[in-house]
Amino acid sequence: MKIVNPATEDVITDVEFADAAEVDRAVERARKAYPAWRAVAPGDRARLLRRFADLVGEHAEELARLEVDNAGHTIGNARWEAGAVRDVLHFYAAAPERNHGKQIPVPGGVDVTFQEPLGVVGVIVPWNFPMLILSWGVAPALAAGNTVVVKPAEQTPLTALRLAELALAAGLPEGVLQVLPGAGEVAGARLVEHPHVAKIVFTGSTEVGKEIAARAAAQVKRLTLELGGKSANIVFADADLAKAAAAAPYAVFDNAGQDCCARSRLLVQAEVYDEFMALLAPAVRAVRVGDPLDEATEMGPLISAEHLERVRGFVSDPWLQGECPAGKGYWFPATVLTPEVTDPAFTEEIFGPVVSVARFTDEADAIRVANDTPYGLSGSIWTRDVGRALRVARAVESGALSVNSNASVRYWTPFGGFKQSGLGRELGPDALAAFTETKNVFISWE
Ligand code: NAD
Repeated sequence: MKIVNPATEDVITDVEFADAAEVDRAVERARKAYPAWRAVAPGDRARLLRRFADLVGEHAEELARLEVDNAGHTIGNARWEAGAVRDVLHFYAAAPERNHGKQIPVPGGVDVTFQEPLGVVGVIVPWNFPMLILSWGVAPALAAGNTVVVKPAEQTPLTALRLAELALAAGLPEGVLQVLPGAGEVAGARLVEHPHVAKIVFTGSTEVGKEIAARAAAQVKRLTLELGGKSANIVFADADLAKAAAAAPYAVFDNAGQDCCARSRLLVQAEVYDEFMALLAPAVRAVRVGDPLDEATEMGPLISAEHLERVRGFVSDPWLQGECPAGKGYWFPATVLTPEVTDPAFTEEIFGPVVSVARFTDEADAIRVANDTPYGLSGSIWTRDVGRALRVARAVESGALSVNSNASVRYWTPFGGFKQSGLGRELGPDALAAFTETKNVFISWE
């Protein structure tokens, strides 16, 4: 596979793709490595993960530049992502010694629970945040004592391959963490079907997620699914409109809109609609689109020519479009639409720098429109009324909401989707539970 820089269309390198037989060999290596890895003393496993985290930190600039070249991320974002990978590893490096069970009172003996690792875990990663999303699955899986095979997205295997090298350099034994670039329908599908893969962590489109869930069902295979989104950014009339409007572009155009959490539906209360749009327009025009290596750049290109065509297909009669470079690279400008709420631009995940704005009348109407979607990943609520903030936050069917903010991802808080945005939660204090089985043991004292 030719790996292409999406900002320049230059071929960076060639990467060999694994076929099904290579996946089988990798799973076998992971299976062989599993008994010894789960037997590593908790403190030693923790130390190895901390060393891995430190090495990622030492190589953060190198990893960030790889992500810029391979995925078109801005250098500022990519540096943050490399630091976040380090932090996710550090956070779960603290888990092995804290992987407690319970002691439950029972008659006639002692009852204890153990959190057992699952075995070999397959982590299938999309192209939009290649190294970051890899770390969300890999770090807790390893901490719990599983071995891991990662399949990065076709277009973006480079940071994943480098992370696997750093894991080995940190002292993780051979076979504990492997990265296999390959095609989704070949290598990804084989991981899902392999009888010795105990769990799949899949992040990607809802369409592929449903297919994976159906195939995994045949083996009652454990699954975490992080899927698509069409999140709402709800601006009430009593909000700090200037602040909400200044922040709104970054809530959807960050990573060129290729973000599952993108607040791509902007819902504005009717009585302040004109005032808000007048504030939004200059904020959208001010988004700096261009060379991802320029530190001032806020938005880079889309991932591929094919994706660019798909995004373009949603856009007709824009209310406003910003500037973007012409010539080589898969560029698309920041775009504001004001479609009908039944228009595909308002209902479907575009996964590009396109926001669709609509009006609502009152709180009930805002909740109705926000929930009128099969997705439920993130969202924002802008209001100065704390009671309203709480009522709406409880009523919106989404896994990660923010009030007077658009932040939704922190490694120490849970992340995941309602409805067709996913199944299970990643990150936060409880992610280890998704990589362990609870075993109950009763010991008779008779
Ligand atoms: P995609 O579903 O096309 O691919 C994701 C991964 O699955 C890739 O590695 C691909 O090779 C693999 N794959 C494809 N077909 C497969 C199959 N039949 N069996 C096994 N694996 C297969 O998604 P994408 O286009 O790479 O990513 C964009 C999507 O990911 C968007 O919908 C976005 O919202 C979603 N996403 C969700 C989250 C989240 O946390 N909820 C985060 C990032 C991206």
